[in-house]
Amino acid sequence: MPAAAADVLAAEDPELAALVRAEDERQATELCLIPSENHVSPAVRAALGSRLTDKYSEGYPGKRYYEGNEVIDRIEALAIARARELFGAEHANVQPLSGAPANLAVYAAFLEPGDAVMGLGLPAGGHLTHGWGVSVTGRWFRSVPYGVRRDTGVVDLDEVRALAVRERPKLIWCGGTAIPRTIDFAGFAEIAREVDAVLAADVAHLAGLIAGGAHPTPVGHADVVTTTTHKTLRGPRGAMLLGRAEHASALDRAVFPGLQGGPHDHTTAAIAVALREAAQPDFSAYAHQIVANARALGDALAERGFELVSGGTDNHLLLVDLTARGVTGGQAAEALARAGLVTNRNAIPFDPRKPLDPSGIRLGTPAVTTRGLREADMATIAGWIDAGVVAARVADEGTLARLRAEVAELAGAYPLPGS
Ligand SMILES: *Cc1c(COP(=O)(O)O)cnc(C)c1O
Repeated sequence: MPAAAADVLAAEDPELAALVRAEDERQATELCLIPSENHVSPAVRAALGSRLTDKYSEGYPGKRYYEGNEVIDRIEALAIARARELFGAEHANVQPLSGAPANLAVYAAFLEPGDAVMGLGLPAGGHLTHGWGVSVTGRWFRSVPYGVRRDTGVVDLDEVRALAVRERPKLIWCGGTAIPRTIDFAGFAEIAREVDAVLAADVAHLAGLIAGGAHPTPVGHADVVTTTTHKTLRGPRGAMLLGRAEHASALDRAVFPGLQGGPHDHTTAAIAVALREAAQPDFSAYAHQIVANARALGDALAERGFELVSGGTDNHLLLVDLTARGVTGGQAAEALARAGLVTNRNAIPFDPRKPLDPSGIRLGTPAVTTRGLREADMATIAGWIDAGVVAARVADEGTLARLRAEVAELAGAYPLPGS
């Protein structure tokens, strides 16, 4: 955190301050390869630490249930205007508290309990909130998951169409959390039109790539777009809904009063800051570098014999099937973490193993690209991952300790933003 804020915290609450410092140190000395994480700018963190956190502002700009919201109204209006401008959307709602609540708002806006919903199944890379059984979205709605093809590892739109024609869902989700390939929003829109379903594109992972022109946009194809703001978009933890003007009031009412109380105004302000940053030319360069780095990492891993779901990547993430390497996703992720490479265990499509210790790991380049790492560094990281996975199999703690020192040295050459 900024030095002045750290001093204030240290003086007031040394115990907590020491923990925050420890996390600063962890992030600085390790490399984050979790595709859903990023490092925000000092300006985003400054907005998060502002007095805006003190305010209650239930309602929307100009229509509040509390007084004293003149400034908050202007902040939220600015965030909305920047979101609409950046994504070319007719309507934006910046109040959802995070990605999962944003997705619930889509159900609240368009569905009644028991209606059918289609989404990419969790094991195939979908999100819990797209109708998976352990989520209320799979209990309160009739869930009809689609998958990916076993031979290609990617969604087959002919299969999605056949399922949609048979099941007549009211809502179809596209997008997910572990999809390494470009999403065909136009193709999904055609299917949704054919069966008269609402199409929701969840671009939580892709928003920054879309803003930077490194992935096609769902705007103009999907009826509603949901996204987190803290992944590739590199803002605070939060979310947004984008949609056509015709759905504006349904979406707004679904968020408040349908699901939430007061918005988090400090987060809204930080979203506005992030949206402005994402509109700059250097953000477009950043988005393209994320993809170039992911490709380089994928190529280097493939050269070392790693098996990548779908054979590679078009975006910021890679799904690595470790079956042939004789380790589980959990064993690999834990060993790599001891080496300072932070990843997450992840199911692969048709995974025979259990979710808590699946067959794969998921890797992403948004955070390391923010720090300035380039293609040559990806080859280095692939070498470390290879050595780390071998070390995981033979329980070689010495190698992991040696890797940790090498990772820390590289990380030290690429400081976190604002440090
Ligand atoms: C991360 C993610 C979410 C959920 O976001 P939270 O902020 O963790 O609630 C929803 N959908 C997709 C596709 C995601 O990747």
